[in-house]
Amino acid sequence: MSPGLTAIEIVAIGEELLSGATLDTNAARIAKELEKIGIRVVRKTTVGDEVEAITSAVDASLRRTGAVITTGGLGPTRDDTTRVAIARVFGRELQFREDLWQELERRWARRGRIPATNRSQAEVPAGATVLPNARGTAAGLALADDRRGLCIMLPGPPGEVEGMLEGEVIPYLAGHVSPGARRPFRRLLRTTGIAESAIAEKVGGLLDDLPLEVAYLPEVDGNDIRLTAWATAEADAGPVLDEGVKLLREILGTHVYGVGDVDLVEVVSGLLRQRGLRLAVAESCSGGLIAKRLTDWPGASDYFWGGLTVYSDSAKVRLLGVSEETLRRHGAVSEATALEMAERVCAVSGVACSIAVTGIAGPGGGTEEKPVGTVWLAVRVGARAAARRRHYPGPRDAVRARAVQGGLDLLRRMILQEPL
Ligand code: ATP
Repeated sequence: MSPGLTAIEIVAIGEELLSGATLDTNAARIAKELEKIGIRVVRKTTVGDEVEAITSAVDASLRRTGAVITTGGLGPTRDDTTRVAIARVFGRELQFREDLWQELERRWARRGRIPATNRSQAEVPAGATVLPNARGTAAGLALADDRRGLCIMLPGPPGEVEGMLEGEVIPYLAGHVSPGARRPFRRLLRTTGIAESAIAEKVGGLLDDLPLEVAYLPEVDGNDIRLTAWATAEADAGPVLDEGVKLLREILGTHVYGVGDVDLVEVVSGLLRQRGLRLAVAESCSGGLIAKRLTDWPGASDYFWGGLTVYSDSAKVRLLGVSEETLRRHGAVSEATALEMAERVCAVSGVACSIAVTGIAGPGGGTEEKPVGTVWLAVRVGARAAARRRHYPGPRDAVRARAVQGGLDLLRRMILQEPL
């Protein structure tokens, strides 16, 4: 095959992928790795284990795109039919390969005698290149000819695919990619506290004149914007990406909490460390999730005092010292309670900063006045305090995750003295 490969298809094979019993993580992994050398996955097909289904899927992929990677169905069992199907597509015989058989025997030696059924693993389409699989017994295979194109066969287990991509597939494919192939270079802007539609409205046609692809990636706890520039080198892509980031930062202001693979916790902890501040949290509906998010990062003890999970009114009163009067007059989900929680946890801990969260995560407990998803967030930074009412959509998990992110973001803005 001549160099110049830029597009490829994936055929994921296995009944368990169709039924949903197994998630197809291999395709995502393959796509990510191939992109790095400038090969785009342009279509993905999932089929069961029947020879007919695999044959027609691979045949169609080769007709359309001329290159395909399959995953799954290379094992020794009866439902592992990939070899047979691909041999048929390329019009090749299956040949028994003594070297492969010896390798299988060698691997089996430690466990005992190799079962006769494994013989099929040493039968490969004539002319195939063997791609060794250091993590499993099913070797990968590659077939290429000018008539049909290129087909790479990988096994199913994700750990094996991962190892083979780096060790075998990328080096093999690199020979098919032209030296000047364009690759994607990316920047990720992370935002929170602003809806995807609001971002899109603000951004409008701002980036239209730049040779960039813009993708909006909504997540539960924020919306990311991914910029992609295709170029042969970072030196060419960098300036245009930087210009895009600059324009977006100007228009989105403090909604952008970071650029790159950065977690809001890293941003907040950076600010706390920088300013020598320590943080305590008082959590009701988030049930300790802020403390968890913070302590997921090593070194949290530098700035995190700890937290109190005060789920019941009684815990709010007895552990934290929130007044019964406040709870009676305003209710547990209220501005007054949130502010008092934030103040009391500072008093109890003796630290300067706090986040307090109280809300109705659902599915029950909502009222007309305070529907499910209503959350009061309060923060303190020294003598300054603020509270905000939010209404978070989604099921219980999403409301709680959004409340955690909202609390962290409120603290970030408060420390930076930016609009809340
Ligand atoms: P083996 O020698 O292990 O049989 P194989 O090539 O025959 O290798 P399969 O039998 O198709 O692979 O799948 C083996 C395991 O890998 C199964 O647990 C399956 O669920 C998992 N798997 C298969 N395909 C995928 C995929 N696309 N994404 C994630 N997991 C997968």
